[in-house]
Amino acid sequence: MKATITARGAVLLGKYVACDAFNEPMPLRVVTHAHADHMTGLHRSLRACEKVLMTKATKDLIDVMRGPLFLMGGLVKTLDYGKAFQYEEEWITFFRADHILGAAQVLVEDVEGTRIVYTGDFRIDETPVLDADVLVMEATYGSPSCKRSFGKNVKNLLVSLVEEGLKHGTVYVFGYHGKLQEVMQILHENSVRVPFVVPERVFHVSKVCERHGMRLGRLMLSREREAKELLDKNSSCIAFYHMASRNKVGSNSFRIYVSGWQFNSPCREIAEKEYIIALSDHSDFDGLVEYVRRSKPKLVITDNFRVSHAETLANEIRKRFGISALALPKR
Ligand SMILES: [Zn+2]
Repeated sequence: MKATITARGAVLLGKYVACDAFNEPMPLRVVTHAHADHMTGLHRSLRACEKVLMTKATKDLIDVMRGPLFLMGGLVKTLDYGKAFQYEEEWITFFRADHILGAAQVLVEDVEGTRIVYTGDFRIDETPVLDADVLVMEATYGSPSCKRSFGKNVKNLLVSLVEEGLKHGTVYVFGYHGKLQEVMQILHENSVRVPFVVPERVFHVSKVCERHGMRLGRLMLSREREAKELLDKNSSCIAFYHMASRNKVGSNSFRIYVSGWQFNSPCREIAEKEYIIALSDHSDFDGLVEYVRRSKPKLVITDNFRVSHAETLANEIRKRFGISALALPKR
């Protein structure tokens, strides 16, 4: 097989490339994006691989998340979208994936002209669909029960919920890196002009996003006096925190969680002044199936290593398209 997924989650493409986890014999490691579950074993890859490939934006994000010394432990080569890189007789090209800043799909073309594609994580909306012979894809929402029929209204809903919250004072938004910045961008685009208060890590990630062209609004570090005063007085501002801080800050404030695990309605009230908004950076089930339909592969491998419905998705693909599909690694 020209592609597989190892028991440790490495997506192997062609003869030389291991994506998103460490794999001893492969000379090239690819990091599709800067989420932790795609940086597995990166430290070892940096030491063992000839080259570690990623986009410039992903490198900048890892530099702020892990510290600038981390990637110096190996030879990192940054690749632009659409620019092919040759290794021995194979060609490796990154294409944009609509997920977080810097996210890439990976195309490997071997000597026989076989197109081996790995989508990485993606949302179908702004992701170019690549023609593939062998397609490896994420399967986060790979079950037919994971459909979001409410579509694009979510952004408007988010804006009005935040505006409603600001009437009561400070609004806390909790999410993962990348997603928080997407929320900032949506609010900024919709002219929500209050200070955005952020802790150190979120600040640095946001600055990388701005350097790569996102427009986020006016950021204030939470440890600065001015920001502390805003929060203490419950003034009109928005505080953005990583999901991991949800039990540590803003306990009595208006709180919004941004999460993809929401299918029935785009917004759910879970307690008084506490809401979940269904803003996802992954395709839902229909988006995953749509990718397969347009990519026209002969074989599909669904990622059964990361949190997902890989088995179900592989079954659905076999049923709908009559092509081979399997979930790897086997569980
Ligand atoms: Zn991701």
